[in-house]
Amino acid sequence: MVAMAASDLSRLIAAAADTIAAHADELTALDQAIGDGDHGLNMKRGFEAVRAEADTFAVKPLPEALKAIGTKLVMTVGGASGPLFGTLFMALGKEISAEPDRAGLTAAFGKAIEAVAARGKSQTGQKTMLDVLQPVHEALAEGKTAAEIVAVADRAAQATVPMKALRGRASFLGERSIGHMDAGARSTALLVRAVAETIERHA
Ligand code: ADP
Ligand code: MG
Repeated sequence: MVAMAASDLSRLIAAAADTIAAHADELTALDQAIGDGDHGLNMKRGFEAVRAEADTFAVKPLPEALKAIGTKLVMTVGGASGPLFGTLFMALGKEISAEPDRAGLTAAFGKAIEAVAARGKSQTGQKTMLDVLQPVHEALAEGKTAAEIVAVADRAAQATVPMKALRGRASFLGERSIGHMDAGARSTALLVRAVAETIERHA
């Protein structure tokens, strides 16, 4: 992987914000079923705030850009997911080099997921965003293609449907959380698709 040009990061931000905006109603509906129905709006507010400052972020070295994006997400997304997505990007920025190869990206992503789990006092299997992040990390480590990684993320989000929520608001429902996709797992899969397809298209 060569150095990430400012235009690449701008494209990634636009793709992420576009997909969240396009699916905000769906994310809200998922969160209405087993949460409080704010996930779509939370994510849209956060990613539009990042989009609004994309030019500022895009000229920074990749680690600084990711840290700044994470900070912005913490400040703007809100809910439980804001600090968690914020942690993901901030930790990624802390761990990644300015010009990461795939191994470097994979290692940094793994550390960032650990930071999310520590922050959320959560682990995989509890019907959260971690249930998509973890399999995506494995797919990255296994050398899977962008298309395969997207498929892994989509399947992983689907796989949260039969799970019982053990973290977040959905856990208050106990058994009644079974049968619905976790909203944060879905938004994570959407972001994975946006990033993977954008990188693939401009590789
Ligand atoms: P809130 O639950 O405060 O309304 P959101 O609706 O924006 O916040 O986000 C809910 C999502 O956050 C869930 O679908 C889940 O994926 C994720 N989440 C909540 N709590 C945790 C946690 N402790 N660890 C990991 N992810 C979590
Ligand atoms: Mg919610």
